[in-house]
Amino acid sequence: AKERGKDRVELFEEAMHVSAFERLELKADLARAITSGQLALMYQPVVSLQTGRITGAEALVRWDHPRRGRLAPDAFIGIAEETGLIVQLGQWVLEEACQQLRTWQLTLPPDAALSMSVNLSVRQLEQASIVQSVRDAVDQFGLDPSTLTLEITETVIIDHMETDRSRLTALKELGVQIALDDFGVGYSSLRYVDDLPVDILKVDRSFVGGITDDQPTPVLEAIVALGGRLGVHTTAEGIEHPNQLSALKGIGCDLGQGYWFSPPVAADAFFELLMRNLE
Ligand code: C2E
Ligand code: CA
Ligand code: CA
Ligand code: CA
Repeated sequence: AKERGKDRVELFEEAMHVSAFERLELKADLARAITSGQLALMYQPVVSLQTGRITGAEALVRWDHPRRGRLAPDAFIGIAEETGLIVQLGQWVLEEACQQLRTWQLTLPPDAALSMSVNLSVRQLEQASIVQSVRDAVDQFGLDPSTLTLEITETVIIDHMETDRSRLTALKELGVQIALDDFGVGYSSLRYVDDLPVDILKVDRSFVGGITDDQPTPVLEAIVALGGRLGVHTTAEGIEHPNQLSALKGIGCDLGQGYWFSPPVAADAFFELLMRNLE
């Protein structure tokens, strides 16, 4: 887990050093990337902290750039948002993830419920057509909509409160689940959680990183308690150490993700994890 953490830091620093020239180049390449099969999804297990069962996956996009190799989202999601290409990119991610979910669900025993989380950019949420896109994806792949979760980063909702609220409500009416991603880092988190139709709070990993021995921090404890009072599930991100896991379990956090369980992996590796986990 340490090794992988280090790799991630290096990827991140690389992303920070993308020069203006490189950004221009990536901008020009991105449109082609979406249509010519250069995007790939990795899947990170979402685990029930109480039972240890894998209950789902989060789909995380990668770009296999013909010259630069595999790029992490930090290197291109910002560019995709600036150019508006995020709408096309996000549409590809949605369809790919739904198709993969259906494939897995058909292979698993019927009682092994499996869900899929997809990250939605606020730029996608701005499009009225997003509601139809999600409905189409659910229909096309014959999904039970409750097995699809849309993750929205609450820090970016701020400017668009009214539109976003009604859009999220329309999405929720399709029967999908809505998660507030990176919860706790935005300055108006508490207002959102009261105002928006939310099913899951995804506690930002900076809070989990604050657990040193197996004691939860007061803020983490308060967030999980808040989730309980609001009747929404809480998912903790970035669980890297067993003491973080036991602290989160102890305060009744429902779900977790992190390198302690698994980093994001390719589809076939995810399926192997899933089969071993079912034994
Ligand atoms: P996120 O939604 O908060 O996703 C979690 C990120 O944390 C992932 O990075 C994951 O690899 C990383 N992570 C997971 N477990 C651990 C851990 O134990 N420790 C640490 N330090 N990190 C962990 P990734 O895959 O690089 O994605 C970064 C961000 O890019 C995502 O953050 C999300 O905001 C965005 N993103 C990824 N895929 C998509 C997509 O399809 N659409 C959109 N709009 N954004 C995406
Ligand atoms: Ca996410
Ligand atoms: Ca997150
Ligand atoms: Ca994030």
